[in-house]
Amino acid sequence: MYHFSRMKRWLHVRVRINVTGIVQGVGFRPFIYRIAVRNSLKGYVRNMGDAGVEILLEGTETSIKGFMQDLQEKKPPLAQIHNIITKRLEGGEEYQEFTIHKSSEQIELSGSVIPPDIAICNECLTELRNPKDPRYEYFFITCTDCGPRYTIIEGLPYDRKNTTMRDFPMCHFCKSEYTNPQNRRFHAQTVADTKCGPKAYLTNAHGKSIESKDPIREAGKLLSEGYIVAVKGYGGFHVAASTTKDEPLIRLRKVKHRSQKPFAMMARSLEAIRTFAEVSKSEQELLTSHTRPIVLLNKSDAYCLSDLIAPSLHNVGVMLPYTGLHYMLFDKVNDSAFVMTSANPPNQPIINDNEEALRMLADTVDYFLFHNRRIAYRCDDSVARMHEKDLVFIRRSRGYAPAPIMLTEKAKCCSMGLGGELNNTACILLDNKAFISQHIGDVENIETRNFLENTTRHLIRLTNSRVEAIACDLHPKFTTTKLAQDLAKENDWQLLQIQHHYAHIAALMVEHDVKEIVGICCDGYGYGINGEAWGGEVLHCTRESSGFKRIAHLEEQPLIGGDLATRYPLRIALGVLYNNADVEKWLQENEKCFPHGEKEIEIILQQLEKRNGIIKTTSCGRVLDAVSAILGLCYERTYEGEPAMKLESAAMKGKDTLKLKPIMKGNILGTTRLLKEIFEKREELQTADLAYSAHVYIATGLASLAVEKASENSISTIGFSGGTACNRILTSKMRETVEAAGLQFLVHRAIPPGDGGLSFGQAVVGGFFDS
Ligand SMILES: [Zn+2]
Ligand SMILES: [Zn+2]
Repeated sequence: MYHFSRMKRWLHVRVRINVTGIVQGVGFRPFIYRIAVRNSLKGYVRNMGDAGVEILLEGTETSIKGFMQDLQEKKPPLAQIHNIITKRLEGGEEYQEFTIHKSSEQIELSGSVIPPDIAICNECLTELRNPKDPRYEYFFITCTDCGPRYTIIEGLPYDRKNTTMRDFPMCHFCKSEYTNPQNRRFHAQTVADTKCGPKAYLTNAHGKSIESKDPIREAGKLLSEGYIVAVKGYGGFHVAASTTKDEPLIRLRKVKHRSQKPFAMMARSLEAIRTFAEVSKSEQELLTSHTRPIVLLNKSDAYCLSDLIAPSLHNVGVMLPYTGLHYMLFDKVNDSAFVMTSANPPNQPIINDNEEALRMLADTVDYFLFHNRRIAYRCDDSVARMHEKDLVFIRRSRGYAPAPIMLTEKAKCCSMGLGGELNNTACILLDNKAFISQHIGDVENIETRNFLENTTRHLIRLTNSRVEAIACDLHPKFTTTKLAQDLAKENDWQLLQIQHHYAHIAALMVEHDVKEIVGICCDGYGYGINGEAWGGEVLHCTRESSGFKRIAHLEEQPLIGGDLATRYPLRIALGVLYNNADVEKWLQENEKCFPHGEKEIEIILQQLEKRNGIIKTTSCGRVLDAVSAILGLCYERTYEGEPAMKLESAAMKGKDTLKLKPIMKGNILGTTRLLKEIFEKREELQTADLAYSAHVYIATGLASLAVEKASENSISTIGFSGGTACNRILTSKMRETVEAAGLQFLVHRAIPPGDGGLSFGQAVVGGFFDS
């Protein structure tokens, strides 16, 4: 026996291995080449049309064993192996050496995908700065470990000819590195240099080119001087400006019709960030990670940048440079950071084309810093914040999409979710992987609808998914609902319409592999079961066909004039306070906060009297908005979440001096008393304390209701989801109450709690829950 297996080890064998995962565009073939040669194996490796990799090995049993071990243990840092399928083949000794073969168009397996764009690596950055390096100062320096991927890919397999790099044939030098197995750029599809790669150039606002030997640093100087410059990056355009001068920011706010919405910034370095913001250890790790998201950081006491960047907020969104170009912008200036906001007009997808940029931005910017590489797929920056050590995604996009989120279980069918209306994404659920698209935006018009449809089709192609079910929101009039209906009909897919808050909690359940939960879901608006406006819900959810039960919620409050009340939160406050004693005096003082003044107030009071033109809502967001308006923090919502965000900022240094015990009417948490108390004590108590007290009241009230319901049903897990779960104070107060009761408290880790995670929640109901 022993003798036989010894013999066998030296026998010649032939094996075909298929690897799925993120294995193209991450230096995987060069890696396979190296470990095959090291293990004295012959054969080939090649990319497949399904984004997977095929390997043929000839050699001894021992060599193959060594190879398999290296494959698992030494894989490149950005590669993800999901599955290795091994097959013994007849024959052998056909190959004289190991080579990288031409890619195959063959599409066989599902679930592999191209990696997200990756920030410039340290080695490339060192070369960028080294005068002796051949790629010294080349702004798009990249290697197998870094550079754009998802935003340049037009088709599979991931070869240069299937990317927008095909417009740039390699020069002799780049080719020599590309073909050298010892080189870091061996088979790096984005390899380029000053000679053969994309070129940067500067133009004025009308596209007339401006002669400059050093257009990038010239653009940096223009920014520092106070000009507004549109900067083309990997996946779209930024509009950039100074962070210390008010004039360009005033101008930018005016032309972009963004009077208050915070602008994101790009800082030259971590040290530079520390001059104006606080950076914890976990925030530092996130800022410097290869995903390079915009991270929301608390402004420090020494904050000295323009107050126009993030007006009335305690935090600012900051990212570090992620391309050579971004680093070079700071070379000839002393600015610690530049404003770098996405260049998309309101409700439009991010601009990705030079012509389109000129058309859309000529009135906004003074200059354009273009490059001549096309963008195949646009991708906005990701935005995240840390709740202590927990990562919370505000937007999961560049650096993350389309890499899958790995789940514990396999879905019973391949399903897709199209999301809701605002901050949308699409999601494909395949086996134990969820592929969430990049940020699509607010799907309210034809441009974003088309962007969503194209992205969805692209994602299906990339992952080679065979979709069986498509899920969307319950709202009958959403553009995404209509699109889902059309796609279901066209492809004969099962159609599922999922209630908004149920989808949020379902997402939480599958992310944490939980079978039953009491979920608290808070946000601005979601279409309820009978069409009511929901947004402060406690749901009991299982994976059975009964789905969910609404077991508690916030008190209904009137929205006078419907959507108008969402825009002007004083209307919500007035709806609650109108019969209070000194409300008349208060109204007179705040007359100018209603766009039509006295006349408008009169109409509102009449409406209240006659109870007409009023929609009722249980929305948590609207209650926070009303508090924000009563405290004079925000009278008009100029961007999504503004009043509530300003309330959170005001509450950061507050204490619970109001000490109002939650008032329950059965399964309903009252909010009328809260608003009245805040109104009555607005002069007596500190604004910060009242803002904080409102958070404590809602968080402990909802959490207590959830704890009570969980205990009644012998459920040990309570979760918190919805856009409001981005709020740090609410989250931590809820956690306190739930954990004090000895129950487990769950929040999202990998999926955005806001509507960017809705598509995932819809898809998992289709793929995991009984129908
Ligand atoms: Zn690199
Ligand atoms: Zn070259």
